[in-house]
Amino acid sequence: MRVSGCSYILLFCMLPFIGIAQEKGGNEKDQGHYNQSKFRQMYDEFSTPNMFRTASGAPGPAYYQQQADYKIDVTLDDRNAKLYGEETITYTNNSPESLEFLWLQLDQNVRSKDSKSPLRNGTTVPMYDSPKNFVKDYMTAPFDGGFNIEYVRDSKGNPLPHVVNQTMMRVDIPQPLKSKEQVSISIKWWYNIPDHTISRARSGYEYFPEDGNRAYVMAQFFPRMAVYSDVEGWQNHQFWGNGEFALPFGNYEVNITVPADHILDGTGTLQNRKEVFSKEMMQRYELAKKSFDKPVLIVTQQEAEAAEKSFSNKTKTWKLKAENVRDFAFASSRKFIWDMQAVKMGNSSVMAVSLYPKEGNPLWGDYSTRVVAYTLKSYSSHTFEYPYPKAVSVHAKNQGMEYPMICWNHGRPNEDGSYSDQVKFGMISVIIHEVGHNFFPMIVNSDERQWGWMDEGLNSFMQYMTEQEFGKNYPEVIEPLKRYPSRRGDPYKIVPYMAGDQSTMAPIMSNPENVHYLGSNAYGKPATALNILRETVMGRELFDYAFKTYAKRWEFKHPTPEDFFRTMEDASAVDLDWYWRGWFYTTDYVDIGIKDVKKYYVSNTPNKRMKEYLAERNLKETNLKPLVYLEEAESMDAATSAMGKSPEESSTTLKEYMMDHLTAEERAKALNPKYFYEVTFNKPGGLPMPLIVEYTYADGSKENMTYPPEIWRLNDKEYKRVLTTQKKLVGIQIDPKAETADIDVSNNSWPKKEVESDFELFKEGLKGN
Ligand SMILES: [Zn+2]
Repeated sequence: MRVSGCSYILLFCMLPFIGIAQEKGGNEKDQGHYNQSKFRQMYDEFSTPNMFRTASGAPGPAYYQQQADYKIDVTLDDRNAKLYGEETITYTNNSPESLEFLWLQLDQNVRSKDSKSPLRNGTTVPMYDSPKNFVKDYMTAPFDGGFNIEYVRDSKGNPLPHVVNQTMMRVDIPQPLKSKEQVSISIKWWYNIPDHTISRARSGYEYFPEDGNRAYVMAQFFPRMAVYSDVEGWQNHQFWGNGEFALPFGNYEVNITVPADHILDGTGTLQNRKEVFSKEMMQRYELAKKSFDKPVLIVTQQEAEAAEKSFSNKTKTWKLKAENVRDFAFASSRKFIWDMQAVKMGNSSVMAVSLYPKEGNPLWGDYSTRVVAYTLKSYSSHTFEYPYPKAVSVHAKNQGMEYPMICWNHGRPNEDGSYSDQVKFGMISVIIHEVGHNFFPMIVNSDERQWGWMDEGLNSFMQYMTEQEFGKNYPEVIEPLKRYPSRRGDPYKIVPYMAGDQSTMAPIMSNPENVHYLGSNAYGKPATALNILRETVMGRELFDYAFKTYAKRWEFKHPTPEDFFRTMEDASAVDLDWYWRGWFYTTDYVDIGIKDVKKYYVSNTPNKRMKEYLAERNLKETNLKPLVYLEEAESMDAATSAMGKSPEESSTTLKEYMMDHLTAEERAKALNPKYFYEVTFNKPGGLPMPLIVEYTYADGSKENMTYPPEIWRLNDKEYKRVLTTQKKLVGIQIDPKAETADIDVSNNSWPKKEVESDFELFKEGLKGN
């Protein structure tokens, strides 16, 4: 290309356009370094793909997982609230490595006398205290709830050396366990069962002083194998209380001996139903298996109330068997009412089940089992068919805790049986949530100890979708509300958290022990992020397919965060690295606004900018080739009337050009805008997001436009757009449906106005969605 000898005229023709082009490119000096771009790929943050886990997010050809099979015998000593147990664990090493020792989890040691867990948070003297709390905090000797390990033996009965480090126990096996080999170890133990209503434990009993009974919800009651994987090696991070569990899959045979008048249910299928059921219960059970529309009572309230007084000295052993589960839990009490119904699941059916004392009624009889059934169907439609034979919801005061096939849920009416909407919706929501945990993390078996959000966030998102669907299908249950009052998931609900004090905030990608607000960090924010991803960034079709792909790829396996992030991109062709980076790896928030709106009209004469440009260079207008100008309207009041004229009316230059260069047909097809605007959007918030804009015109019509998040890739702060229209623009609204969790909506409209409308109605749950 020839560079010199360029004429003035040609130069003048080009320069203004170069100037405009530069402005379009944005303020690059403020941009910082390109290697800090929020749109760069996540190579630095993600682990390198390998034969265990592929770059697509699927398990690789060398993927393996360990297997831990259990045979357990436990006896519940109801009189003394103790549990005695013996177990044999058969552990299969599917990893390519040899293992020199095994790690087991002793979760109850979090309540042992020498536990460090109660010490990790500082304490201060309160302004006042309730007598109950005062007695609990200052006048009660610490509960001794740790495991008492009586022996650890090999398959021949020889003692195995073992070391207990807080909640973890290392068992030293005589020879390394080679790849593909098995080892069996036997353990005997007992512990004092905690009152979970006092200790806030995830399992234990509630004592009912009126009748002297306890209702037990039992979990973490046996030494459990830790996970060994390609990602963590042994996952032997201590159990401090917040970070939940990491567990391998296995098969369980569990025999549970309890007082003969107890009603019991747990993980797995009951093996000796005829031994533990009365004839009447058997008949009712046969009916329940065929009842798809409503639950059938196996134990009635009347029968449960009679049992409350019996205090049998005899025992019964309930035998349960479960395949391919990562844990085992059970509930037992003579106070339990029991109901069940069948749920169609593909060609077969599964049982939805509830256990509750009379204190849960009438709420529990009315809703629990129906909600279990609804949850199984809803979650299955978004993931995979629920593969277990049943799902049990157990009523336990203040609880919300999940295990395979069984979970504990709160929601207790007042003593007279009345209850508030808050209790009712709280109960329905917690049942959806805890039953939903069967999918994440019981079957899609993520590491809860390390990543709270992988189960809580995904599950809270699924809970939100299920609640909203439930509200649509059962309008009579949510009346007079138009939509189900979900606690989390709607974008505006995460705003107070994301707008909060940055010094107490942590990215979603944090260990659950290391965050101030676990509820927002591991539940609310990831649930909202996924909801926004589905509704606003990807769209339902792409999102739902990718999410299902993730669930199916990792059903009965152990996924990591990258496996999720990669699969969502792999199955959708949407580059989401910017989204994972912003929402999951930083504490940035969304704030997008309108900085300025300039109005222009078309003219033939050099505009202000051109005049300044020429003056700076001592150049004359007369040297210019005929040009078309957009003149800023507000700079010349008298010229305002020129707005609203078509370009051809306003510019003879343009008119002549069209006559000379376009055919009559082309001229007829040419658009003929009358109004010209330059809108400057700005982004005070750190998170890139799609820019959702609603333009309102003088005739009241509206136009919606979504600009992709990539508009922020070269300039993270500002985005300008020239808008040409037939109609006069009278208003601009950003994010009109409050979809993006924008923390400051005072800059979302032009002209500036109070933000109300849809957003407020949404908040109050009065507007359908
Ligand atoms: Zn949960």
